[in-house]
Amino acid sequence: MQVRWNFKLLPNQTQEATLEDWLVTLRKHRNYALRERTTGFESNNKDSESTIIYTYGSYCDLESRIEFGSCCPLTCPVLKHGVIPQNLGLATKETKVKDKDTKKVVETVVKWDSASGIQMKTTTQLRNSLCNFSIINSAVLQTNIARLDTAFSNFYKRRIGYPNFIRRLDSFEYKPGHVLLRHIRKNYATAYLPGIGDVKFHKSRDLTLIQDLRTCTITRKGVRWYISMLVAIADVLPDVKPLDLCKSVVGIDVGINKLIALSDGSFQENKRISTNKRTARRMAMRQRGISRKQKGSKNKIKAIKKLRLQQHKLAQHRDGYNWQVAKVVVDTADVVAKEDLNIKNMVKRAKPKHDGKGGYKRNNAAQKTGLNKVILDASWGDIFDKIAWLALKAGKPVVEVSARHTSQECLKCGHVDKKNRLGEKFLCTACNHLDHADTKASRTIGKRVGLVFLKNKKTLPADCGKVTPSSHQSDWVETLVPCLS
Ligand SMILES: [Zn+2]
Repeated sequence: MQVRWNFKLLPNQTQEATLEDWLVTLRKHRNYALRERTTGFESNNKDSESTIIYTYGSYCDLESRIEFGSCCPLTCPVLKHGVIPQNLGLATKETKVKDKDTKKVVETVVKWDSASGIQMKTTTQLRNSLCNFSIINSAVLQTNIARLDTAFSNFYKRRIGYPNFIRRLDSFEYKPGHVLLRHIRKNYATAYLPGIGDVKFHKSRDLTLIQDLRTCTITRKGVRWYISMLVAIADVLPDVKPLDLCKSVVGIDVGINKLIALSDGSFQENKRISTNKRTARRMAMRQRGISRKQKGSKNKIKAIKKLRLQQHKLAQHRDGYNWQVAKVVVDTADVVAKEDLNIKNMVKRAKPKHDGKGGYKRNNAAQKTGLNKVILDASWGDIFDKIAWLALKAGKPVVEVSARHTSQECLKCGHVDKKNRLGEKFLCTACNHLDHADTKASRTIGKRVGLVFLKNKKTLPADCGKVTPSSHQSDWVETLVPCLS
């Protein structure tokens, strides 16, 4: 089993300075490579008449390998290839010349490579000529280019936009086999990072379990440093229990007022970690502090560091709290039922409203922005991920159900109406069924899983007996039997 383990690095002052220098050089390196590829991207596709110089990559049909100088990269299946620059001495520079002495005909052989392949070869030259490049481990430089190439291939697969120039790089990666673990003590261990040396890190996990150490990523978060190791460990995951053997289900409804409402009637509070009044004020102060400092001054750098540290602390606080919440949810029942939410669409900004006279009507954009901030602060997606992982570790299935009308549908009679909901209260306009709105939504979600538990069976539910009270269970049986038959 392959998992990612994160540890807090404890570099000394010299090591930290080296790490920071590396990140600056690597950022420049990436931006330089991006500039090259952009030039290639633009020059090869604009002018079909002129001779095309495939220095940094062009486009070709994958099967026939025919180059298209003027094709539009967005309309045809293309991959980037180029001729290895001659000055690198890597391409065979044999030319079709009849040698007078030997009388041999030597033909030109042009060597092709992918754009990133060429750039990796150029990087080797950079290491020979520039001292800030020569101190960096060559594998790290290679992965730096490989990461950019991944960004490009994602762009061509239309997953993301065109790669951007970056103003701040926060991580770099070692290939497998480069980092070694040494001096494993009780509370700490050291990792040998080529080019930097032995760096201590907090030993927060049992390192003896590692069967194979793969890629290692060094990351700067705020003012702290972390090492993230991809490790192979013995497979400890149990088989996921089949749905028909499960004895209880918990539906969860995520929200703003209550972070999570569980179908057993309990709630998990929303701490509003970065949008509560106190923190929001402090963050605004930190931000204001930065904007008041002189550009390029040391005080500005200090102020930026303060803000980053604060943001990092909040992120860690949120991360820890989300683990707690996820644990509570997974421990409640055998099956977790959750909504299939499209959070990305939920946090889109308000659309402008035209008034028909060339102007705009009010569209409550500020209100929507505020709501978006709160939604992002609640980090539902992160909680769902954590629930999925903890459930996998416990061998419990997680079921996704449609999020349609979960808050408007009556649990008793199935009546769907917007007016059913009055703030935190749910009152059915058809049958006067009264419930807490969020709890009801979570029960609807639980019900949609389609599991029917027998009425009054003492042994059920297995874990706690907290799942939907018996009054609701009777309804379940009634409403679900026709659907199942
Ligand atoms: Zn009703």
